[in-house]
Amino acid sequence: MSFATLKLNASLVKALTEQGYTTPTPIQQRAIPEILAGRDLIAAAQTGTGKTAAFVLPILQQIDPDKTVRAKRVQALILVPTRELAVQVENSVQSYAKHLDIRSMAMFGGSKIADQKQALIEGVDILVATPGRLIDMLYQRALQLDELEYFVLDEADRMLDMGFIADINKVIERLPEQRQNLLFSATLPEAVRQLARTALQHPLEIKI
Ligand code: AMP
Repeated sequence: MSFATLKLNASLVKALTEQGYTTPTPIQQRAIPEILAGRDLIAAAQTGTGKTAAFVLPILQQIDPDKTVRAKRVQALILVPTRELAVQVENSVQSYAKHLDIRSMAMFGGSKIADQKQALIEGVDILVATPGRLIDMLYQRALQLDELEYFVLDEADRMLDMGFIADINKVIERLPEQRQNLLFSATLPEAVRQLARTALQHPLEIKI
C-alpha cells in the first residue's frame, strides 16, 4: 500500500516522500478513500496514529485555491482544542502543501488579531483555529464561513472536556448546510456522539 494507491496526487506524494513517509498508516488507509469519496466521518484515533495527515491530505487534494481568491472565503476549517495543536496542525498542513498553491493560517487566543484579519481579507484556504478565537472573529465580522466546504473537529473529546460545546455549536450555526464533516476523537463517549449527531450527516464510523 502506497500513498499513490490511495489516489493522492503527485504533488502530495512528492511532499510525503520528501518527509520520508512511504506507507500510509492504518487510519490513513481507511479514512483517505472515504474522505475523497465525500463522506462524513467519525474516527476514533489517538494522537500518534497519523490522524492529522488522514484528514489534511484529502482536503488538500480537493481544495480549489482559485475559489478562495474569487470568493475570499475560507474553504476548510479545522477546529482544535489548544493553541499548541493549532500550530502543530497548521505546520502539518504547510508541510504537505509544500508543492501546492494553498494558503493556511493558525488562529488562537493570543495570536495577533490585526494580522489575521488582514490575512483573511487576502484569502485563506485552510483555517486551523481554537473555538474561542474563532467566535471572536465571527462576531467581529472579520470572518465568514458561508462558503465552507470542509469542517473538521479534531480531538473532539478534549474540546468537550475543555467546555467548548457552546462555542462549537455557535460555529456550526454559521456553516452552510452543504459541507463535508470529519470528526476525530481519541474516545467516543456519549457527549462526542451527541456532537456528531449535530454536526455530521450519515457518518461512517472508523475505529483504529
Ligand atoms: P498524528 O497522529 O497526526 O499526531 O501524527 C503522528 C506523527 O506521525 C507525526 O509526527 C506525523 O508527522 C507522523 N506521520 C503521519 N503519517 C505518517 C506516515 N504515513 N508515515 C510516517 N510517519 C507519519
